[in-house]
Amino acid sequence: MIELQGVSRDYGGGDNERLWAVRDVTLRIAEGEFVCLAGPSGSGKSTLLNIIGGLDMPTAGAYRFSGTNTAKLDADAWAALRRDAIGFVFQGVHLMDAETARVNVALPATYRGLRRDAANRRAEELLRELDLGDKADARAGDLSGGERQRVAIARALMNGPRVILADEPTSALDAAHSDEVLDALAALPKRGHTVVVASHDAAVRARTERTVELRDGHVVAAPEAAAAPTGQFAPAPPPASGSSPQRTAQAAREGAHALLKRPLAATLAALSVAIGAWCVITTLGLAAGAYDEGTAVFGWMGGDEIHARGHYSRPNIRVTPEDAAAVETLAAIRRTEISAFWVVNLRRGDKQLEVWLNGTSGEFMLQRLWMDYTIASGAALRPADDAVRARVVVISTPVRDALFGPGADPVGEAVWVADQMFTVKGVLAPHPIISRAIYRERGQFDHSAVAPFSTLRDLLGDQHLRANTLLLRAQVENLSQLEAAAAEILDLLVRRHGVVQEAIQVQLNNQIPGRYWTEIHNRIALLGSLGAATLLAGGCGITVMMLTAARGRAREIALRMALGARRRDIARQFLVEACLTAVVGGVVGAVLGLATGAILATAFKMPISYEAWFLPAAFAAAVTVGLAAGIVPARRASGLDPAAVLAEE
Ligand code: ADP
Ligand code: MG
Repeated sequence: MIELQGVSRDYGGGDNERLWAVRDVTLRIAEGEFVCLAGPSGSGKSTLLNIIGGLDMPTAGAYRFSGTNTAKLDADAWAALRRDAIGFVFQGVHLMDAETARVNVALPATYRGLRRDAANRRAEELLRELDLGDKADARAGDLSGGERQRVAIARALMNGPRVILADEPTSALDAAHSDEVLDALAALPKRGHTVVVASHDAAVRARTERTVELRDGHVVAAPEAAAAPTGQFAPAPPPASGSSPQRTAQAAREGAHALLKRPLAATLAALSVAIGAWCVITTLGLAAGAYDEGTAVFGWMGGDEIHARGHYSRPNIRVTPEDAAAVETLAAIRRTEISAFWVVNLRRGDKQLEVWLNGTSGEFMLQRLWMDYTIASGAALRPADDAVRARVVVISTPVRDALFGPGADPVGEAVWVADQMFTVKGVLAPHPIISRAIYRERGQFDHSAVAPFSTLRDLLGDQHLRANTLLLRAQVENLSQLEAAAAEILDLLVRRHGVVQEAIQVQLNNQIPGRYWTEIHNRIALLGSLGAATLLAGGCGITVMMLTAARGRAREIALRMALGARRRDIARQFLVEACLTAVVGGVVGAVLGLATGAILATAFKMPISYEAWFLPAAFAAAVTVGLAAGIVPARRASGLDPAAVLAEE
């Protein structure tokens, strides 16, 4: 079972003299033996026991466990071996005092992937066998020394190991309790377990079958094994195949438990992430709001329009309402209009005024063309007016004042352009800018009017029309289609007019300087990085919490590793805890962010818009931050040397 060949373990080096804790030990322990490692304090018993259990590695010599050369095992392979084949009863007992006896006993099963209820049942069974049946629910910290020692034995037996190693199990007990514990240990070889007890206590030596005497690391007496062992080894319950999600779920349960034990630190860490997620959501909302508003302004200023006309060098090429209708059939185009202006004398009776008479075929472009105009009386122009070639005109307030007198209501009255009569359909309210005093002082009045394009073209002809004011305006469905749509329009018009490309001029009505757009993008980037920076700070909060926690929990981590937790089990535990903290913080932050957005939007009228992908994105960011924040603490924790930590008392 256990074969040591010339095994040594030394400390020191450097300036100090080398110290041999164990020197050149050759020893065989057969299956089912009950052996005592005896010797005075400092003779190397614990070191040898730790080597047998894989908590310490020999610096020289060979150690075979159950036929396996242990030199080939790495830390995780050793952890798996301890988990399945070796039960430790530590010198300091090392129970988790805040947990019940049952939880303590069941702990090693966690790393075998045993289901919790099965583990609990087995734990209770073991406690009963050790006469602790009524203590399953007692806190380990409340038990007597002898009871604690027996709970530790039950825990060592949890995974049904072939070998039980106990270090000074009676050192802190009085004679009566010491006997109870020794009875428990002595019962094990009869069931096939191999038991090795390190002890300087003569009472222990008296109970074991064989005593190996150590002095200064040397074996001074090691009688051969007595008669062949008689016990029948009772194998452990088969390890349930603990799948990774199952283990992660288990780690999440334990993580939540561990976090709840440090509520202040966990809350602060979660809060730091919450603030980060809050900033990210809010800044994303503000950025998206700014973008939407920018897009809206861009569209409102005509940035979503494409303008097509005959090139100025070809005054005979005129775009027509039919061209507009053809362009409107393109998929990327939402609507089109054709417009132009005539400079004409508008007459009423003996009064006349030179006006810019705008002709337009639709109402949308009219709104743009006549930005900031509102209707003061009467009605606005409609596309239907163009369709039926209505002889109607909408006039500005200064035109009304000049022809009808201030305050008059001209709706329904007639006005004339040359010999053509038009009916006044509506009056535009004074333009907020053009009506300002500064314009009036310069003698600049808003002498303009608007009428259906087709009516004007039919009635006035090209006589007063400036060819280069004739314009086909097309609005795209989507800003991203601007360039492609412009190319399509050019293509279409070139074919319709049967001319070369140079004869048609197609332009983006991009009146917004690129700087404006760049500015919006810069602000979005700035806001985004502010949010990201706060999230990063949140991640640091988690890392700090986990690092301090790892220091405080070193004993517990070492214990878990000694009981068979592999390094990756410990690392998973830390990563899951970090993610849990981050996710809780992320959810709280997201809710705060949404609330802030609602407040900013309603109370402060700030442009803010939330999109559905923000929440999954914030969640993913929180998990990423959690994982990233957990890496360093996880490495720290899983890199612990369990033997060294457990030896510190
Ligand atoms: P025992 O259990 O028989 O009392 P140990 O195995 O604990 O003895 O220690 C054997 C020797 O090794 C002692 O001299 C002790 O001081 C030394 N030793 C044990 N652990 C360390 C260590 N981590 N660093 C240096 N010396 C150690
Ligand atoms: Mg010792």
